[in-house]
Amino acid sequence: MDITLLRTFGSTRRIKTGAWSRLQPTFLQGISPCMEACPASIDMPHLYQLLLDGKERDAALHLLAYNPFPSITGRICPHFCQEKCNRREMDEAVEIRALEKHLGDLILREGIFPSKELFQGPPVAVIGSGPAGLAAAWYLALGGMEVVLFEREEVVGGMLAWGIPSFRLEREVVRGNVRRLEEMGVTILTSSSVTPQDVEKLNREFQGVVVAAGLTKARELPVKGKDHALRGLDLLRCYNLEGELPSGERAVVVGGGNVAIDVARVLVRDGRQVTLVCVEPEGEMPAIPEEIGEAVKEGVVIKTSTGLEEILARDGRVTGVRVGPVCIVGEEDRLKKVEFVDQAREELLCDLVVLAVGQEVGEPWGGGDLILAGDLLTGPSSVAQAIASGRDAALALKAKLKGETFSDVRETLWQRDHRDVITFQDLNPFYLEPVPPVEVRDSESALKEARRCFSCGYCNACGNCWIFCPDVAVILESLPQLDREHCKGCGICATECPRGVVYMREKGW
Ligand code: SF4
Ligand code: SF4
Ligand code: SF4
Repeated sequence: MDITLLRTFGSTRRIKTGAWSRLQPTFLQGISPCMEACPASIDMPHLYQLLLDGKERDAALHLLAYNPFPSITGRICPHFCQEKCNRREMDEAVEIRALEKHLGDLILREGIFPSKELFQGPPVAVIGSGPAGLAAAWYLALGGMEVVLFEREEVVGGMLAWGIPSFRLEREVVRGNVRRLEEMGVTILTSSSVTPQDVEKLNREFQGVVVAAGLTKARELPVKGKDHALRGLDLLRCYNLEGELPSGERAVVVGGGNVAIDVARVLVRDGRQVTLVCVEPEGEMPAIPEEIGEAVKEGVVIKTSTGLEEILARDGRVTGVRVGPVCIVGEEDRLKKVEFVDQAREELLCDLVVLAVGQEVGEPWGGGDLILAGDLLTGPSSVAQAIASGRDAALALKAKLKGETFSDVRETLWQRDHRDVITFQDLNPFYLEPVPPVEVRDSESALKEARRCFSCGYCNACGNCWIFCPDVAVILESLPQLDREHCKGCGICATECPRGVVYMREKGW
């Protein structure tokens, strides 16, 4: 063959190599697994990029768009995000919660507020000032509404104020966040009980009502002697609001969730001997694993796969409990159904029994145009889930009052690009290296830790695709664009992108 037939004349610019291709790359922001796992759908890679660009304040504002109380979640969230972080495939997850706490504390300290919408909204009401109610009030106020928040207790914050012990969540942090709501213009009415019977009146006075009244009734266990036991949330309320604890040197706490662990920790820190019994097997307790670890370190004895059969009492005083090995055989109405596996029973001597087996709806809410949020809507959930639920309720109400279409934050994220969650296999390991986590104490260490993020699915304009493209078909302005006339579809850009942003597709998609 005449070799000259294979020669091309002129520069790559002149030859429209784009005509040769079957595939072409698309540049799409993907969903990072941390964002997907976070109930509030916080866009971590974008947040960290702002930090790396030296825009700490913008990063804080970006965070507030998803979660108004990062100083709270940064302390008590089980960090679902970190469990899914792609970095775990290489070394250890990015310390997402610690970064969130750092930014949350900065927001509190420096009084960072997003701008309120220029909209003179009608009066709206929020019932309940737990995390869902606070979040709803925040986003409604941000949208320009005139918000009245009703709280039946004397203190604001619901579980945040009286359910979670201060060694996990300092009261000043809760108060600081409540003050921010007031600064946003929310009217907070404490000692103001609103019940389902008030719905008609509420609907007359307000243009919209978000009910985030929580689960107010303690679940009961159908066991003999249950009337001798205290309820977990009653004990926490007394302790957190009045600093009082019931008498009893040897306590048995029943339950495997966060309330049970909090009760056990409060008691053991007060010098009591505490045994916690729960029906879940080891490793399956619903409480936050770190908190379980702390409880054990502090001296709580945990007996898993153990069911309570009877609370023993003499002359009206608790003397012990009878427990035995159980297995879980199902779940009904979110309560685990268990069966004792054999005849073996054990008596634990104690003089205090606390039941912490969950909460349920007190009075059902309905009628009018109420929007439910938080545990009332979803059942028992984490603080981050409650915040997301309150936020979405507020955004839905705001959209309705402004005649807009509502799409929740998660929906918007998924609509952005219709991509799957970016896995570790979607990343290019050549550009990733092990780096041990940094303890986040200040802005400098926060920056170091943010640098550990792989930025999964988020283009940070690193320029690799532009550098490696042999046809100079990538135009890198703020974000990469494709010169379709010259891209011949070799896919080098997709291979060399460290973060799974470039995606080869059939032409004409
Ligand atoms: S709210 Fe929880 S899950 Fe979401 S980013 Fe913060 S720590 Fe992670
Ligand atoms: S590496 Fe970064 S973007 Fe990826 S999952 Fe972890 S925190 Fe999220
Ligand atoms: S290689 Fe870099 S600039 Fe190109 S798409 Fe990937 S992250 Fe963005």
